[in-house]
Amino acid sequence: MMQKLFNPLNLKTMSVLIYAQNWDGKFKKSVYELLSYGKKIAENNGTELIALSLGNVDSGELDNLAKYGADKIYFSNDGAFDSFDNEVFTAAIKQAAEKAGAKEVVLLHNNEGKALGAHLSVALKAGFVSAAVDLPESYSPFVIKKKVFTGKAFAHVKVNSEVAVMTLSPNSYEVIEDAGAGAVEELSFDLPAAKTKVESRDVAKGKLLLTDAELVVSGGRGLKAGDNWGILEELADTLGAALACSRPVSDEGWRSHEEHVGQTGKIIAPNLYVAVGISGAIQHVGGISSSKFIVAINKDPDAPIFEVADYGIVGDAFKVVPELTAALK
Ligand SMILES: Cc1cc2nc3c(=O)[nH]c(=O)nc-3n(C[C@H](O)[C@H](O)[C@H](O)COP(=O)(O)OP(=O)(O)OC[C@H]3O[C@@H](n4cnc5c(N)ncnc54)[C@H](O)[C@@H]3O)c2cc1C
Repeated sequence: MMQKLFNPLNLKTMSVLIYAQNWDGKFKKSVYELLSYGKKIAENNGTELIALSLGNVDSGELDNLAKYGADKIYFSNDGAFDSFDNEVFTAAIKQAAEKAGAKEVVLLHNNEGKALGAHLSVALKAGFVSAAVDLPESYSPFVIKKKVFTGKAFAHVKVNSEVAVMTLSPNSYEVIEDAGAGAVEELSFDLPAAKTKVESRDVAKGKLLLTDAELVVSGGRGLKAGDNWGILEELADTLGAALACSRPVSDEGWRSHEEHVGQTGKIIAPNLYVAVGISGAIQHVGGISSSKFIVAINKDPDAPIFEVADYGIVGDAFKVVPELTAALK
């Protein structure tokens, strides 16, 4: 049943609202991470967790939001959500947050989430924390830890407004299956006319998308030439991993710019990132620091990549990588 956003008694239950972004009608692991995170905040405050889904999703997908903790699910299949327009989505999330009496509004830390977070904080007159990495340290005052300087340091930020809007850095919180009541409610929104519309999309097919990959094998200038990528391709095939590279590698034309990760390239958060012949410059690390595990292979024991790596192998990539692949096989 369609429910209007009208609350005659102005009754407000406090809640945590998470925006469950979908990709072609499906939710990803990062959304379940958001739910698990929001659920813990709700539990800590004795409030409820509400998930908001905008646009059509595949059948059974809304049930998944309940499976990972949503006490309530707001959704709308309005055609206005078929393509992304920041003002339209911001208006909807704002109205849902007000209906929910949300004290915390949590979004994914991706391009869409970051863009929405900034707009939403203005719309809700709320403080905005981008790239939170942990649960709030306290709720009154609201203090939370976040990444700064592309992950080189952390800041502890105090939010002075009544409502806090935040994005959660990927891989910051464990996905926990902890079912919520999952009461589903369809909402209708008062939306502005969209100022942008996606007319068409060219989607790369048949390849594991780098930003979706759980495992990534990446090469740097230490590989010396594009012709040497065979050893990385074999390792990636053996692991079922996607390939990535540092910026100079794509600047040299050894690999496509689609594979370039870092501050000026793609930001990724796989479970495993294997950095081969990559020095670990801050601009590179900024794009991979949310990876769960980083393995570095470098012949220089003082290479900065070892400072962020969980495991390191000091050695010549041309010897170590084929041995690693053979061992994995
Ligand atoms: C504004 C700005 C934005 C930038 N954005 C990005 C970005 O988005 N992404 C990015 O990657 N960079 C970016 N850069 C560039 C960045 O500063 C570094 O120059 C770059 O990341 C270095 O790439 P690299 O590690 O592949 O090469 P190098 O720094 O040349 O490192 C090569 C590494 O390979 C090792 N090596 C050499 N031979 C072998 C071998 N046989 N076996 C094993 N190891 C070996 C060396 O010890 C060395 O550590 C940016 C720079 C600027 C100024």
